[in-house]
Amino acid sequence: MKFYSTNDKKNIVDFETAVMEGLAKDGGLFMPVEIPSLQKEIIDSIENFDFGEIAFRITKNFAGEEIGESDLSDIIREAINFPAPLVNLKDDLMILELFHGPTLAFKDFGARFMAKTMGYFVKKKESTLNILVATSGDTGSAVAYGFYETPGINVYILYPKGKVSLIQEKQLTTLDKNITALEIDGTFDDCQRLVKNAFVDEELNSKLNLTSANSINIARLLPQSFYYFEAYKQIREKSIHSVFSVPSGNLGNLTAGLIAKKMGLPITKFIGAVNSNHVFADFVNSGIFKPHPSVQTLSNAMDVGNPSNLARIRELYGDSLSDIQRDIHSKSYDDAQTRRGIREVYEKYGYIIDPHGAVGYMAVRDYETVSAAAKFNKVILETAHPAKFKDVIEDELGIEVEVPERLAACLNKQKKSVRLSSDYEELKEFLLGAV
Ligand SMILES: *Cc1c(COP(=O)(O)O)cnc(C)c1O
Repeated sequence: MKFYSTNDKKNIVDFETAVMEGLAKDGGLFMPVEIPSLQKEIIDSIENFDFGEIAFRITKNFAGEEIGESDLSDIIREAINFPAPLVNLKDDLMILELFHGPTLAFKDFGARFMAKTMGYFVKKKESTLNILVATSGDTGSAVAYGFYETPGINVYILYPKGKVSLIQEKQLTTLDKNITALEIDGTFDDCQRLVKNAFVDEELNSKLNLTSANSINIARLLPQSFYYFEAYKQIREKSIHSVFSVPSGNLGNLTAGLIAKKMGLPITKFIGAVNSNHVFADFVNSGIFKPHPSVQTLSNAMDVGNPSNLARIRELYGDSLSDIQRDIHSKSYDDAQTRRGIREVYEKYGYIIDPHGAVGYMAVRDYETVSAAAKFNKVILETAHPAKFKDVIEDELGIEVEVPERLAACLNKQKKSVRLSSDYEELKEFLLGAV
C-alpha cells in the first residue's frame, strides 16, 4: 500500500516511509491511496475471528507488501496484548472499554503498535531514531510505555506544564532510560507547534534523525480501527443500525472509525462528541473551520483547539460537507454537562464512567432524542479508566474509585522532567545538546 500527503497528492511514499517520517515533509498527513475493504466473509462471520486475527487481516492489507506474515503477526501479538470488551449498560446501550492496556487509555493500542512497527524498521538501520511527541495527557504516557527500552529509539515527550493530571504526569515522568519528559511552559497547542517547527527545521533534521509519534502517525491511526471491528463483533443485535459515540479531541480515534467504515464495517453513524473545545462541532454543523486556542476542561485529553486529523476526515469525504454530515453528527458539552453524565451513568446503570466517556454518553443521550431511528445500537467508546480521573469522579459521586495496580505503581516514583519555555529556539538548543 502506498500513502500520500494531504498537502500534495503526488507526494507518495511506502508504508515504512510514512511510519518513520510521521508527518510528510510538506507538512501534510499521510493517507492510504485507497482504503482496502476487508473481505465480506470476515465481516459476515466476524464472531469466528479473535481480536488478533482481525487486527492481522486489516494490517496485512496496508503493510503486507513490506512486512512478512510472521513478523507482522509478532508485531500484532506483542502490541495488541489486552482486550477491548463491550459492556452492556442496557440492551441497546453499550460501553466499549478501551482502557485495558498498560497506561489505562485507548492510546495504548496505537502507541504499542507504532512502537513495535518502528522497532521493526529501525532494526534494519544503524542510526538512532529520536521521537518527538506533543501530548495533552494520555498520548505521552502511552507512547512512553510503548517505546520503553526499545533499542535504537529515544523518545522526547512535550507536555503542557500544570495542564495534565497528577497521574498523567507521573506516568510521563517516571520511566527514565530512553524516555525524556519535557515540561513546557505553555498549552498543548504550543507543544504541538514546537513539534511541528522541529520537523520542518532543516538544520535540526540534518543533525538528528527525527520523527513524530502522536496521533498523526499512520501507525497510530491504523490499529485504532481494529477495535471498531472487535466492538461490532460483540454487538448482539446486528440486524439494527449501530451508532458509535467517540469522545474526540485531535480526531484520531474518530478518523480510525471512519476508516473502519470505509473498510466495510456496517456502522451507520458516528458521533464526534467534544467538550468545550468545539471547533469540530462547529465545522460539522456549519462547514466553517475556525481553530481557536484550547480551553481547559475535565476531559483534558480532548482539549484541542486545532485538531490535526480534520485534514484526514476532509480527505476521506473529498471535502464534501453533506457527505460528512451524513456519517457524522457532532456536539459540544461543557464541564457541568460532563459531570451530569458521570452522575447519570452511575445512578442509572451503576457504571463508573470517566469524564471523556461521559462526554460521549451525553452526546448519545441527546442523539437518541433527535434521531428519528427506532431502536438502534449505541456504543460509547470509553477512552480512559475512571481511576485516571479519580478526584472528579469521587467528588461527583461521593464514592471511592479503586486504582488498578499498574497505575498505583508509578505514583510512588520520583518525577523527572526538563523544564522549557514555549520558545522554539530553546527546544532546539536542548535537542542539539541532548543527542
Ligand atoms: C486522546 C484522548 C481522547 C481524544 O482522542 P483523539 O483521537 O485525539 O480525538 C479522548 N479520550 C482520552 C482518554 C484520550 O486520551
